[in-house]
Amino acid sequence: MANQITAQCCIAGGGPAGMMLGLLLARAGIEVLVLEKHADFLRDFRGDTIHPSTLEVMHELGLLEDLLKLPHQKARQINAQFGDLALTVADFSHLPVRCPYIAFMPQWDFLNFLAERAGRYPTFKLRMRAEVTDIIEDAGDIVGLRATTPDGPVDLRAGLTVAADGRHSIVRTRAGMEIDEFGAPMDVLWFRLSWRPGDPENPMGRFQNGRIFIMLNRGDYWQCGFVIPKGSLAQHQDRGLPAFRDGIAQLAPFVADRVAELQDWASIKLLTVQVDRLRRWYRPGLLCIGDAAHAMSPVGGVGINLAIQDAVAAANLLAPPLRTGGVTTDHLCRVQRRRESPTRVTQRMQILIQNRVIRRTLGGTEPLAPPLAVKLLAWFPVLRRLPARLIGMGARPEHVQSPNAYSA
Ligand SMILES: Cc1cc2nc3c(=O)[nH]c(=O)nc-3n(C[C@H](O)[C@H](O)[C@H](O)COP(=O)(O)OP(=O)(O)OC[C@H]3O[C@@H](n4cnc5c(N)ncnc54)[C@H](O)[C@@H]3O)c2cc1C
Repeated sequence: MANQITAQCCIAGGGPAGMMLGLLLARAGIEVLVLEKHADFLRDFRGDTIHPSTLEVMHELGLLEDLLKLPHQKARQINAQFGDLALTVADFSHLPVRCPYIAFMPQWDFLNFLAERAGRYPTFKLRMRAEVTDIIEDAGDIVGLRATTPDGPVDLRAGLTVAADGRHSIVRTRAGMEIDEFGAPMDVLWFRLSWRPGDPENPMGRFQNGRIFIMLNRGDYWQCGFVIPKGSLAQHQDRGLPAFRDGIAQLAPFVADRVAELQDWASIKLLTVQVDRLRRWYRPGLLCIGDAAHAMSPVGGVGINLAIQDAVAAANLLAPPLRTGGVTTDHLCRVQRRRESPTRVTQRMQILIQNRVIRRTLGGTEPLAPPLAVKLLAWFPVLRRLPARLIGMGARPEHVQSPNAYSA
């Protein structure tokens, strides 16, 4: 027999979306239980960016100062090199926010911080090593989740179930949600190389005929992303690791002295890029947010920001009805209406860049001519504020309006 548990809201997945929503609902005095399948938040690199709009949310929650006490790096600009043209493509310093920069912080530090702060509210519960395996339905409504835990199976019943279990969401699959897939011409190989004094500080992207290389300064190492045509990992492996290392050294000569740190293919992780969006983000009793509602392309590195913004909007719209026990399908529909257009706009831009810049660069054999949009950024520095706004703030930044049940 499964253990029976109840909560006002249960959330599948303790990623950025699930943890932020859990914190906000607990702050509103709502009984919330987050189920996370891993034993801790330590896992493969999944992006360490905390965007200006997320930092603004943390300020609104009174948590910014403590968050920024954790080790992090600040990126005020993003630089790129297209063929021979080196330029700044995004300049965050003009954003009208408290922190006009991207903070790079290990995602596990950020998630641990959210978990610790959420845990200070008596109605917040987080169960690690709790893997959601199914939804519980009652007359067409979704009324909870089924999970396996170290103590055996659990049936969790809740007035609202939230799928925040990421791009391979089991909840959205079991709930039979319809998905539009948009495709992507690339995959990304992620790995680390050491950072050495004298190296550049800001993140950078290098675009050359046939190759794209992204480098993110993470303090004592570079988190590197080598973009490859979709499905071409086996070809790279056939050519051998020395050829792969040479390719990196050509793209970023200042790391030629340390490419030997890549000893085997096991130190290089494949991200299969996926871009999709649910047609409907909800069913009676269920809401999908973050990657579970819309897997984002890595272009612009905005997936975490969108996940957080979804959580803030969901808490703003759902905390009041959850407090009175009356979340309706109409409330859930309002969350989708609020967040779908910024998601669409972002995905459209990502797909445009995937097709116009990434596909062409990866398919090119001639020396790369920078696209017109890139030349404009080089000629008119003021234009660099636009990508900064889109990456740093998103198309519709959210602000915390959900109630604080504990304010004096
Ligand atoms: C290699 C890589 C690099 C990336 N780089 C960036 C970047 O630089 N910047 C950026 O903004 N975004 C980046 N992203 C995207 C970003 O990680 C996601 O968009 C973001 O984490 C989405 O947050 P989420 O909470 O919706 O989902 P996730 O972060 O995927 O969290 C889902 C959580 O649910 C848990 N879970 C899954 N299934 C179950 C289950 N059955 N039961 C219980 N728990 C479950 C998972 O363990 C996970 O903790 C990157 C992604 C990858 C893979």
